[in-house]
Amino acid sequence: MQKQSLPSNYNPSPDLLKGKTILVTGAGDGIGRSAALAYAAHGATVVLLGRTVEKLEAVYDEIESAQGAQPAIFPLDLASATESDCNSLRDAIEKELGTLDGLLHNASVLGERRPIESATYASWQEVMQVNVNAQFLLTRAMLPLLNEAPTASIVFTSSGVGRTGRAFWGAYAVSKFATEGFMQVLADELENISNTRVNSLNPGATNTAMRRSAYPAEKPTSNPSPDAIMPAYLYLMGEDSAGITGQSFDAQ
Ligand code: NDP
Repeated sequence: MQKQSLPSNYNPSPDLLKGKTILVTGAGDGIGRSAALAYAAHGATVVLLGRTVEKLEAVYDEIESAQGAQPAIFPLDLASATESDCNSLRDAIEKELGTLDGLLHNASVLGERRPIESATYASWQEVMQVNVNAQFLLTRAMLPLLNEAPTASIVFTSSGVGRTGRAFWGAYAVSKFATEGFMQVLADELENISNTRVNSLNPGATNTAMRRSAYPAEKPTSNPSPDAIMPAYLYLMGEDSAGITGQSFDAQ
């Protein structure tokens, strides 16, 4: 797989996302929280999706106090999300906001870190549900709206273990390979029939709760903060990446 890098010294314009509506999953914490704040700071109206309402409310408040466009909150646990939940969200976005220009699939769960031989089916299913199946339901629900936008961007979140398999990363790694595959299939499907581009982004080691739980012995500050990797998230969501589709990017 050929990996892509950002243009060097990428410097997004302050108005990069002005007038755009962007849905971010897992927007209450970690990289999703930083992406929601960065998108709002660059002019977007952000739809904050996540499972912990208090965290979404805190992000909402941060955007409001920074004088960003008024965001919207959509509480949804992707472990139990149904077709009907995703379609309701699409209808609500259409009714309240009129358009959808971007979708950042960011929410994921790590699951068990153990050999396949002793992995539990319950954990395997939860990881596949949140990291893969819910992405499919949300993507399918949002596509009609995204395809109506003048140009739209779907960004899938990958991982190093979604590009080269590694022992003991189990369902999480398999789910990230599936994510890369989903990105490629969708990008190929849409390339000649819509202005929606589809790419994947591997954030790389980043100081979040997920990273700290995967590497408890590591010094957290040895990795960049989520805010530090936002240039890649802005580049792929804004018009500077127009026309680029089906590519796998690294944020670091
Ligand atoms: P965090 O665990 O810090 O944040 C994940 C976010 O997703 C949280 O807001 C969490 O909500 C939300 N989420 C988890 N499960 C669900 C669910 N069932 N329904 C709705 N929301 C859910 O992770 P990161 O910020 O580190 O990771 C973000 C993305 O980056 C993931 O896709 C991850 O795989 C990927 N990644 C991260 C790396 C890293 O080093 N951090 C490296 C490579 C890839 P809540 O806060 O309520 O639990």
